[in-house]
Amino acid sequence: MSLSDVIVVGGGCAGLFTALELGERGYSCVVLDSSPLGRFASTRNQGWIHSGSLYAGLNQPSVADHCAKGNARLRSLCADAVQDAIEAYYVFENQDEGRDFAQAIHKCGIAVDEIDLVDAMRDVPILSGSQRVAAVLRVQDHPFDTAEVLARLLPELESRGVVTVPVDPLAAPSLEPPSKRRSEWEVKWGAFAGAARSVILASGATIPALLAHVGSTLASRFYVEKIEVLTLHKVVSSAIVATPLSRRAPSIVPFSVNGTSGTTICLGKDDIRVASHTDRMPRAEAIKRIPRQLYDWFPSLDVALGERVEADLFCCQKLKRDDDEEVEIHRGHYLVDHAAQDQSRLDGLYTFYPGKFTAAPHVAVECAELVATRLGGPTHAATVPGTIGHVVAQQRFLQAGTYQFARSPNSFQLI
Ligand SMILES: Cc1cc2nc3c(=O)[nH]c(=O)nc-3n(C[C@H](O)[C@H](O)[C@H](O)COP(=O)(O)OP(=O)(O)OC[C@H]3O[C@@H](n4cnc5c(N)ncnc54)[C@H](O)[C@@H]3O)c2cc1C
Repeated sequence: MSLSDVIVVGGGCAGLFTALELGERGYSCVVLDSSPLGRFASTRNQGWIHSGSLYAGLNQPSVADHCAKGNARLRSLCADAVQDAIEAYYVFENQDEGRDFAQAIHKCGIAVDEIDLVDAMRDVPILSGSQRVAAVLRVQDHPFDTAEVLARLLPELESRGVVTVPVDPLAAPSLEPPSKRRSEWEVKWGAFAGAARSVILASGATIPALLAHVGSTLASRFYVEKIEVLTLHKVVSSAIVATPLSRRAPSIVPFSVNGTSGTTICLGKDDIRVASHTDRMPRAEAIKRIPRQLYDWFPSLDVALGERVEADLFCCQKLKRDDDEEVEIHRGHYLVDHAAQDQSRLDGLYTFYPGKFTAAPHVAVECAELVATRLGGPTHAATVPGTIGHVVAQQRFLQAGTYQFARSPNSFQLI
């Protein structure tokens, strides 16, 4: 059985950045994941490293602050996974919304320009002819390669003695809290058996399932939202375009990774709510929603698309809490110390979900400090034979299907 200070379940941005922070503080740390690492949201997202302006505009200054700090930390760790600054356009259905949004961004000290509609349609051709857009703001922002960030972390983790261990995704985990006869958590998972003073659940959308397994009453307060992300293997806009205040509106982020250029399109916010994580999205349903959501806002998109384009359609998932939207609005992430939630039986158990990849490096510091305070100091050298040579998922660029776009919105199909 392996012995370490901390076992982290989940090797997405939350788990890996936290392990890095704990390793830097001298704690021995084992990360469990079904290989490859970052198989879920950490490589299926839109790849937009947030400066904070979006959340400042949405009147969520603390999320904006987390993004700004996480962004700075990310750059110091892996500067070249961040691409050159490009323009990001926020588009609104009425002028007052645009004005209020600009003021909120200004208040956070971030530069923002109000752009004339004619100029915006010239600069972002897919907007031209749109009947929906009434106001446009422009900020500077950056795309980034999230898979590259995770891959860059691996040697850093190894140098701090952190090991990652693949667990069988089909095996049922056994997570036993400390008891009278044993002061550590005992974790058994397929071929893995380990003990640790603390366990951090950082497995994104599968956190509620693990909490239920451990017996935490918190599980029922979480739910999962599924969101489709369409990845086009073609750049249809050289700028980021987002519709922050409108539901059912897409956002567009161009990327350039490993010699491949393209565009991620998050199809809108009328997301499908499910009780627990499942990795599948009913494809036919998603494909039906695409034309309506895209052409409605970007009527000239078909010109950029042409007749055919290679594309992937992914299901990406967010973890939400039912009872306190307020918590999400103000914090943007969940960091729960289960012992402090009056469940001393679960002493040493933490739940960590960073909300944004951009914020993860900063919130991971908070998580590591919280865990370190309770642990007191490092005591164990990790004694597990580790694999740090895990492959990081490249979900955005796999499994291309061929989609056909045509001028009539109804003729969008997968062929
Ligand atoms: C549509 C969409 C677009 C987004 N766009 C952006 C963006 O542009 N910029 C941004 O900053 N943020 C974005 N985000 C948010 C961001 O991607 C997530 O908040 C972040 O990636 C969550 O990271 P995580 O490590 O908590 O979870 P995940 O990335 O989901 O990682 C969970 C890890 O746990 C592992 N795992 C899961 N279950 C188990 C299990 N039972 N046993 C072992 N391992 C397990 C998985 O393999 C995975 O490696 C977006 C989110 C969505 C949904």
